[in-house]
Amino acid sequence: MDRSVTELKQVGAQRAKKLEKLGIYTIEDLLCHYPREYRDRTALKKLSQLEEGEEQTFVATPMAEGKTTYRGKLSITRLHVSDETGKVWLQWYNQPYLASAFSVGEAYLFTGKYEQKYRTVQSPEYEKLSEGFAGGSIVPFYPATEGISQKLLRQLIRQALDETAWKLPEELPLWLRKAYCLCEKNFAVRQIHFPDTIESFQDARKRLVFEEFFLMQAALFYLKAGSNKAGILMDPSMEFESFLEALPFSFTPAQEKVLQDIFQDLSSGKMMNRLVQGDVGSGKTAVAMAAAFCVIKNGYQAVMMAPTEVLAEQHFRSFSKQFDALGIRTALLCGSMSASQKRKTMEEIASGQAQMVIGTHAVIQKNVAFQSVGLVITDEQHRFGVKQRLALTEKGNPHVLVMTATPIPRTLALVLYGDLEISVIDTLPPGRQPIETYAVTTAFRQRIYRFLEKQCQEGGQAYVVCSMIADNPKVQTESVLSYTQNLQQVLSHRKIACLHGKLKAKEKEEIMREFSAGNIDILVSTTVIEVGVDVPNASVMVVENAERFGLAQLHQLRGRVGRGNRQSYCILISDAANDIAKERLEAMTHSNDGFYLAQKDLELRGPGEFFGIRQHGLPEFKIADLFRDRQLLEISGRAVRELYAKDPALSLEEHRPLAKKLEHYFMLEDVGL
Ligand code: ADP
Ligand code: MG
Repeated sequence: MDRSVTELKQVGAQRAKKLEKLGIYTIEDLLCHYPREYRDRTALKKLSQLEEGEEQTFVATPMAEGKTTYRGKLSITRLHVSDETGKVWLQWYNQPYLASAFSVGEAYLFTGKYEQKYRTVQSPEYEKLSEGFAGGSIVPFYPATEGISQKLLRQLIRQALDETAWKLPEELPLWLRKAYCLCEKNFAVRQIHFPDTIESFQDARKRLVFEEFFLMQAALFYLKAGSNKAGILMDPSMEFESFLEALPFSFTPAQEKVLQDIFQDLSSGKMMNRLVQGDVGSGKTAVAMAAAFCVIKNGYQAVMMAPTEVLAEQHFRSFSKQFDALGIRTALLCGSMSASQKRKTMEEIASGQAQMVIGTHAVIQKNVAFQSVGLVITDEQHRFGVKQRLALTEKGNPHVLVMTATPIPRTLALVLYGDLEISVIDTLPPGRQPIETYAVTTAFRQRIYRFLEKQCQEGGQAYVVCSMIADNPKVQTESVLSYTQNLQQVLSHRKIACLHGKLKAKEKEEIMREFSAGNIDILVSTTVIEVGVDVPNASVMVVENAERFGLAQLHQLRGRVGRGNRQSYCILISDAANDIAKERLEAMTHSNDGFYLAQKDLELRGPGEFFGIRQHGLPEFKIADLFRDRQLLEISGRAVRELYAKDPALSLEEHRPLAKKLEHYFMLEDVGL
């Protein structure tokens, strides 16, 4: 099925280029370019029944050739058509060729809006009646692009569907389709494009949604089975008392429980693949340290990878603080270090002298040779996909611990992280001062400026988050650049800096460093500060145009303050008037619970918006909707387990097409897992 779209009659090199913009390269891509909506044109009107302003479909016959008149640059083409009940005019702009495009006396199907006053239908779509025409139909509308019209897409897809040689392989085995009442693949594909009836459309959609969920979960299941490898056997009790003694606090019961999970994994003889999910500030780092300590005391190295240098340095400081006293040597490896520094550190890592290694993903993953790595910890999972994890396991068989603060509801977590075991730290360490959160309108702006000034006077620092970097005349939204200017004018004696994704990595790091050191009072930023930054002295988080952010994201942003002993504040500014926006911001003011907020957000906005799909590594589905179709998600999960129970290696003849498809699934760079 790797046939190129250029095999279609109407597709040459130029059109192929345009189709590429829609992600369509092969016939299969084309067939899987599903409609984004449908219009029901099953009801046909007689001309005498046409109603004002409605889009309607009717069959009519041209009475004479069309006529084109010109008004300056504008051309207007009119065609007079009739049926047995009456006559109307059809009118198109700037398509003079339509004047002679119709055969007088033949019947066509037209769809457009009727204007009673002029007895005219404006810019109707048209289609010659095919032989055996049996009435109107449900018409698909596609994601389209310039130069590729709806009409053309429909024609191309119809052509592809009609070519028997281009039938798609059926990947779901018969027993499964029977057990779960799923229609056959090619039937489903035809019906999803050109449904005969609402029922056949529903059957088709069910089948295709099921298939998407099924394939993804089957792939994850396979990965999980694959990672069920032998792991290095560790004894977690080794000198653990001394670790606890050096720790400046005692673990919360929630931390202890997660630690038990981890210790069990480490002493199981199997490779650990565990995700630790815990709200911001719940104490994931300390848990990671304990795991690293155990591995180091068993004679192996431990590695911690962070998504940015700022975070890596931050971890380096906290790990050193704990480990120096215990005689464990911690090393930092970052891209911005000098070549000779890097070389020296790499030598220490290779010789095993450096027992705890901390660095950025990028640096660690690139040709660092370890003496004997026993544990890999990664911070913030969504930047570290299945593929990287697999790559790592090729560097020996280290245990893997993934930390994330992204509060993903359990049902989704099972899908997203299907290849990982999950532990949750579900309570915060004692004595945290809750962050006071307010949702206000822009009418409060002057008061907020005064409040920022007061906080700075008291020695605190603040973040202001805007959703855009520069002003855009099309949307009335605060931007980092002009906000910084304004704020600097109002608080001219304060040190104000701005931070956003267009800055060079070096510049960003430098600004974060200055902010951490207290040399910047107020940092105006995009959401680049969202992940994991820890500046305990920061006590205010202001979010402009708060309605533009998801709750999970607002919660992450809020987690940047309240990390020290200052009373902290989060101020959400929004003039949004709609109820959902208000309800969401309201939820922020009375809950500090990331999981509650995530669930709420999912309900109010659906998963696409919630995750900002790509960014959080949520797989993109072509047709399935994680929220709306969550029942099918569950059912297909059951089917996956049934499949592997039947045929763990997928070696049965009837599972061959499926096994092949799954192989393909892993080869794709961009599966989003
Ligand atoms: P996370 O990484 O989950 O956001 P951290 O591990 O950075 O959270 O912990 C946040 C702060 O809480 C740190 O300053 C840490 O020292 C402290 N902390 C962690 N666990 C405890 C505990 N059990 N009791 C008191 N303070 C703790
Ligand atoms: Mg952390």
